[in-house]
Amino acid sequence: MEIIILLVVVVVLLVAVPDIRRSLITRPAFGFFKRVLPPLSPTEREAMQAGDTWWDADLFSGRPDWHKFHQTKAPQFTEAEQAFIDNQLETLLAMLDDFRIVQQDADLPKKVWDYIRKEKFFAMIIGKEFGGLDFSPAANSHIVSRIATRSISAAVSVMVPNSLGPGELLTHYGTEEQKNYWLPRLADGTDIPCFALTGPEAGSDAGAIPDTGIVCKGEFDGKEVVGIRLNWSKRYITLAPVATVLGLAFKLYDPDGLMGEQKDIGITCALIPTNHPGVETGERHLPLNQAFMNGTTYGKDVFIPLEWIIGGKDYAGKGWRMLMECLSAGRGISLPALAAATGHVTERMTGAYAYVRQQFGMPIGLFEGVQAAMGKIGGTNYTLESMRRLTVTALCEGKSPSVITAMTKYHMTEMGRQVMDAAMDVHAGKGIQLGPRNYLGHGYMATPVSITVEGANILTRNLMIFGQGATRCHPYVLAEMEAASNPNEDEGLQQFDSLLLKHIGFAAGNFFGSLFMGLTGARFNASPMSGPTARYYQQLTRMSRALALTADMAMLVMGGDLKRREMLSARLGDVLSHLYMASAVLKRYEDDGRQSGDLPFVEYALEHHLYETGEAFKGFFANFPSRIVAWTLRLAIFPLGIHYHKPSDANLQAVAKSMMEPGVTRDRHTFLCFWKDDAKDMIGHMELAFLAMREHADIYKRIRKAVKHGDIAEDLSGDELVKAARKAEVITADEAKALKKTEQLRMTAIGVDQFAPGVIEKRKFY
Ligand SMILES: Cc1cc2nc3c(=O)[nH]c(=O)nc-3n(C[C@H](O)[C@H](O)[C@H](O)COP(=O)(O)OP(=O)(O)OC[C@H]3O[C@@H](n4cnc5c(N)ncnc54)[C@H](O)[C@@H]3O)c2cc1C
Repeated sequence: MEIIILLVVVVVLLVAVPDIRRSLITRPAFGFFKRVLPPLSPTEREAMQAGDTWWDADLFSGRPDWHKFHQTKAPQFTEAEQAFIDNQLETLLAMLDDFRIVQQDADLPKKVWDYIRKEKFFAMIIGKEFGGLDFSPAANSHIVSRIATRSISAAVSVMVPNSLGPGELLTHYGTEEQKNYWLPRLADGTDIPCFALTGPEAGSDAGAIPDTGIVCKGEFDGKEVVGIRLNWSKRYITLAPVATVLGLAFKLYDPDGLMGEQKDIGITCALIPTNHPGVETGERHLPLNQAFMNGTTYGKDVFIPLEWIIGGKDYAGKGWRMLMECLSAGRGISLPALAAATGHVTERMTGAYAYVRQQFGMPIGLFEGVQAAMGKIGGTNYTLESMRRLTVTALCEGKSPSVITAMTKYHMTEMGRQVMDAAMDVHAGKGIQLGPRNYLGHGYMATPVSITVEGANILTRNLMIFGQGATRCHPYVLAEMEAASNPNEDEGLQQFDSLLLKHIGFAAGNFFGSLFMGLTGARFNASPMSGPTARYYQQLTRMSRALALTADMAMLVMGGDLKRREMLSARLGDVLSHLYMASAVLKRYEDDGRQSGDLPFVEYALEHHLYETGEAFKGFFANFPSRIVAWTLRLAIFPLGIHYHKPSDANLQAVAKSMMEPGVTRDRHTFLCFWKDDAKDMIGHMELAFLAMREHADIYKRIRKAVKHGDIAEDLSGDELVKAARKAEVITADEAKALKKTEQLRMTAIGVDQFAPGVIEKRKFY
């Protein structure tokens, strides 16, 4: 007893008497913190500090405020946005023939380019005062997604000027003169922009670009002025082959001190007309057969005036910060939009095809193996659309959420790849044979493009999500890092002291909270909703607390090493991401009015995200270098074991069944898909066959029964089947008419395209 009293007195003295605490706890901890602080390069520091936090900070804190979360309103389109979506967008979609665009012309038709420019598809993010559309992120995302269900090449062409590039950089940083000159020209399509950062030696490590600008005197408009002599070699640049204005990132040096004392000024962005002397628009790349314009650009000793720096002289050397600050919007919209389109198309078409395609005498969608693939597509698409909406909601609130957009970019493109693979498996030969009727092939080929651009996925998962998340979302770490790097040591120590106390309380709360929730199965956690989703809220709060505890311990034990141990830190990033995705699913379910038809999809998604959360923790504990810490964490968080499971077989079957059911659930889940009710249309031919077969399901059922009884011969189809069924009096004369039409549609739908000899061979490269 005396020992306990003594211990309590010591702790109280340490905590309550600042001088004792500072010398015995804070100062050593401060020294330790400075030692283990991850060494940050200036570009990493700028990336880390760019952007905002949002719901990710709640999840990282271990105490998500679900009520606040559900108060966030899903964005609505304005009247102007809705009118554009109903008119201009539909007109554009009807003009797109992706097979022709990709396989024959390797370009969008001129009338499509003209329409896109005239109707300002390139100007969605440009303000009305400059003649732009000034659309919200929600409208931008919807428009790009819907175009992508028709043509990835057209979607990429539209998305790039509305993503990180000249339009966005000018809007945020341009001088009045630059804005007044360029933005109206970009808005009305007079100019087409591209933005060139990547080069042969600088891909993921874009901060290492070798392209240079030297401040010097030169001649411009017949006068001698101070300007920049540029040399660059860039590749992979989207729209470069057709761009009339080039946004260029380069490193600026001022060896003669013409701009000031600083010689190495840093990354700078400038806008250069592509017809300026010395600018060389290079040749085209062929990005996995897609037809969007992508290519190289070079410049040798190109002289430009200082006024061409975006933002003017004041923004010389601030290019990296500008790019990092603006990265979030495009990253949260563009490639996620392509992935959302993949989800919508694969769910709608796989459901239809699995019903239309019959093997072994029945629709392939009735076989359990196929249902497993279908369940994955439907369940994953629920998350894809939920994540698209939630991230767009943050962007519509004016946030620039760097961690959320990194999670969205990475996970949506990865999920897009997974649903595409599953859809290809179900479609088999139908997905492989290219032609006007193949709605999967081009999307399948384009999948790695989304994986690679705007932060290649391995890097995004392993460096950015947790690397940024841990510092940006943690309630204390960023402030502690700032205190530790305060050049005034005493001031830094004082700031650190008050943060440390709170941090210790936070960590203790996470430890005991996790243990309690682990022992009680989180049953005492409050849930904002009752009903079938209530348990998921309890579990997500529990996993959020577990993440807060584990992240703290990982940083404490490994310090700067955690950044290098990408396999470990990525797993904690996965936990954060799966919590975010599960939240998005719950929010959508509520926002959509708790549709009962959605429940199998919601259940799939939530079971999957909890399972993956458990797996990420499992992998982390198994590989964490300090075994004692790993075991302590595992025992505190999962004292009764890790009991999350993959979605059940029954759940997969329920999702698959729903995908083969025409009606509101199917329509709501795939509303982004565009098609024409035409048997020649890419998606329309499958849709028509599916709906006709569903309408006449009872006729097919009767025929199957008759085949079983031997009244109709096996393996008949089309007219032969109609005749035999009529002869056996299994169907009426009217039914025979309907069946004949349906069989024609079915044959078209299971058909693939074929080409006369020589047609394919005509595409010549040599
Ligand atoms: C179709 C297409 C369009 C593009 N459009 C543009 C454009 O308009 N403008 C522009 O400037 N650029 C553009 N890019 C370039 C794009 O942003 C780069 O391709 C991307 O940054 C990756 O660079 P890289 O391809 O050289 O891959 P690399 O940098 O060589 O990376 C190779 C692999 O290593 C991984 N990796 C690298 N470093 C790390 C690390 N530290 N930790 C973990 N993994 C790591 C990457 O994730 C990747 O998987 C485009 C590229 C393509 C393919």
